Amino acid sequence: MWWDEIADEILKRKRGAERQVVATGITPSGAIHIGNLRETLIADAVCNALRERGAEAELIYVADTFDPLRRLYPFLRKEFEEHVGKPLSEIPDPEGCHASYAEHFLLPFLEAVERLGIEMKVFKADEMYKKGMYVEAIKQALSHRKRIINIIKEVTGRELPPNWSPFNAICAECGRMNTTTVLKYDLKGERVRYKCECGCEGFADFRGGGKLTWRVDWAARWKILSVTVEPFGKDHASAGGSYDTGKRISEEIYEYEAPFPIPFEHVLLRVDGKVEAMSSSRGTNIPVGEMLDVVPPEVLKFLLLRKRPMRHIEFDPALLVNLVDEYEREVAPIGKGIAAQIPFRHFVTLVQVARNDFNELLKVIKRSGYALTGEEEEIEEIRRKAEYASNWLRKFAPETAKFEVQHALPAVSLTEGQKNALKMLASEIRAGKVQTAEEYHNKIYDVASAVGIPAKDVFKAVYLALLGKDSGPRAGWLLASLSREFLVKRFEEAASA
Ligand SMILES: [Zn+2]
Ligand SMILES: [Zn+2]
Repeated sequence: MWWDEIADEILKRKRGAERQVVATGITPSGAIHIGNLRETLIADAVCNALRERGAEAELIYVADTFDPLRRLYPFLRKEFEEHVGKPLSEIPDPEGCHASYAEHFLLPFLEAVERLGIEMKVFKADEMYKKGMYVEAIKQALSHRKRIINIIKEVTGRELPPNWSPFNAICAECGRMNTTTVLKYDLKGERVRYKCECGCEGFADFRGGGKLTWRVDWAARWKILSVTVEPFGKDHASAGGSYDTGKRISEEIYEYEAPFPIPFEHVLLRVDGKVEAMSSSRGTNIPVGEMLDVVPPEVLKFLLLRKRPMRHIEFDPALLVNLVDEYEREVAPIGKGIAAQIPFRHFVTLVQVARNDFNELLKVIKRSGYALTGEEEEIEEIRRKAEYASNWLRKFAPETAKFEVQHALPAVSLTEGQKNALKMLASEIRAGKVQTAEEYHNKIYDVASAVGIPAKDVFKAVYLALLGKDSGPRAGWLLASLSREFLVKRFEEAASA
């Protein structure tokens, strides 16, 4: 697999024999979505491949909790305007359920990562700063301020003002870091003097009083945490991008070899035919936890790992059933026992026939020909798979995938041919000649040719009589899951209407 190739390349590097630290992370400024998860999964896969090769390897996750809130995102209330510019760890939770804004988005993601079975050591940037882990790095950055200005100019072409500071002070009065100007450096006292647009002037110390600007912060962190491998979005990998500046700052200022880069492509979301990159700030994304409500962790991993990092992944939640089909065909069925025997696509039909009533679902499964033993584990496996199916129907399924078996014959008009076909179908069912989904499916073709109309017209008649619409789930499965008495009665009624 691609992660094996990457691991081999990493170990070819000079320091390959040392301990490997694979780093990943994110700024928790909005819902952490499955596009962000791709990075974590890539890191985890490479880390495991390194271990398989006998290397000592650790997976770490750095949450940029000390980054400022950049702007009032569309999902925030107007009151949050006053928090723009403050570090995410110092802003209240927009929904009031966690200790801070940062935790509100970070913790659900970490829970989801645990459900995915990924073990990683988590660092929170605000704690790293407050604990003093960055003090030396801040001093070096301030002493080599001019060289950093030059590196950024050489790599990006961007001209920074002569008073530019790699360290941004947080105003002690208003809490913002986007409104302060650093006036003086006091390396001995480990603090800077700043003034703020709010009128405040004071000192900001190196232990939580501010933070390195992002390009410098990234490079500093490599050395602080001994990072040797890091996947990151391809935007950072472009020529003159942040990896290029980070690499030079790391090597020239911090004398630390930049980590092995693993750039990766976006996960694109297709909604109503429109395709766009997932974005927390625009709100066009699927949070990891929400995705794990509709598929088991192994399917999410399958989606995000089956392509090489530099190939983009397009995901259409409305077509999730196709993805799960593929997974169940190519990798393994979901669940154990009876749950594993029933394809996910069939579950989507069964839970709708059962109208989301679990006891009814068990009856429907039995009726469809599966021999239930009633053992607790078997029931639990069915319950879990059924929940995935009903959650998908509720959250993402297109209207075309939804149906309801009508209690009474819907008002539909059928041709004479269709009526004859239903009548014949009813008598075959009454005679007990059809039972399994496959038999029902074949019988529809037999009846169509006996009556002399196209099979698609018979399928249509079946859907109309049962669902009141002219299309539906696979007819064989649908018919096998309904009681024979019901089918006979309904088809005869439709035939004589
Ligand atoms: Zn919360
Ligand atoms: Zn201020």
